[in-house]
Amino acid sequence: MKAFVYRGPWRAAIEEWPEPGIARDEDVLVAIRATGICGTDVGIVAGHYVASAPVVLGHETAGVVVAVGAQVEDFVPGDRVVVDPTYFCGRCRYCATGRPNHCVHKPGTETGVSADGAFAPLYRTEARFLRKLKPSTPFRLAILTEPTSCALTGLKQVGALDGRRALVFGCGPMGLIYASLLDHRGAGGVLVDGSAHRRAVAEAIFGRRWTVVADGEAAVDAIRRSHGAVDVAVEASGVGLSHLLEVIDRGGKIVLVALRSRPVEIVPSALTDRSVSLIGSIDTIGTFDEALEAVETGVVPASTIVDATVPFKEIEEGFRLVGCDIGDGRLNGEIRAAKVAVEITT
Ligand SMILES: [Zn+2]
Ligand SMILES: [Zn+2]
Repeated sequence: MKAFVYRGPWRAAIEEWPEPGIARDEDVLVAIRATGICGTDVGIVAGHYVASAPVVLGHETAGVVVAVGAQVEDFVPGDRVVVDPTYFCGRCRYCATGRPNHCVHKPGTETGVSADGAFAPLYRTEARFLRKLKPSTPFRLAILTEPTSCALTGLKQVGALDGRRALVFGCGPMGLIYASLLDHRGAGGVLVDGSAHRRAVAEAIFGRRWTVVADGEAAVDAIRRSHGAVDVAVEASGVGLSHLLEVIDRGGKIVLVALRSRPVEIVPSALTDRSVSLIGSIDTIGTFDEALEAVETGVVPASTIVDATVPFKEIEEGFRLVGCDIGDGRLNGEIRAAKVAVEITT
């Protein structure tokens, strides 16, 4: 089969790759129909995020079951499914203590990072990592289930939210999804992004209830003028933490979700004195079903966030739409899409 394979920084291309098959009784083989291009994929290609090489990239994915192992009872060929790509064993010290997102087997099992992913026509997983899609849910929108699950896991750690004042720094897909979930729970506030395209998408979704601004100074100004401070802040850009620290209120919570970031100087006692929590959150902990519901019911406005679709053979154009020029070997900052779905047919 043809797959999009990562071989090292700026060395990623479609090439011939062995087809996976059913290897164990609990395996399910999925014919992939759509896979999202994620900031993680861009980070890997650019050499900012470590992945095993060679490996097939892609982890936000949906498709159709084509074969099942002998012990699989809940799925049959033809089922339309979305994939939870966060493998966990269920038995190690992390899995046994509520931290399956840090399963000790993660190195070597992480879909599209250290294990073959879904920028390919066929992907092998286990039945326990699949959920059935409603007949009306397009594959290209179902790809938002995984990032939505990550956001729900982050918000779970924030706790009660109704009516809270919020600041979301970064209007890439993660920031937009966090804002959608916060908005649905009655929170509102300020969104920040340096990209005009992403600000336009954010305006289209949240314009009436949230203020959308271009940089951290403008965000701090807007907050000082309206609420004075925020209760919840999400850092989804890697560059906003110092601004969030300026406007987080007493007892406030800051969720850190960017995988690339600049160092920031922190005065620990300032956090202590004001009971401010810094929460790092990666991957998902038991929120995948809730995420699928949020996507299928429109709580997450998937058809607005997924604003570009490319066929598999043009996957490099998909990366260019999010500012990643593989041919030139550089991130050019020209963002022309919020979330790109790569459509794959067998
Ligand atoms: Zn992702
Ligand atoms: Zn484990």
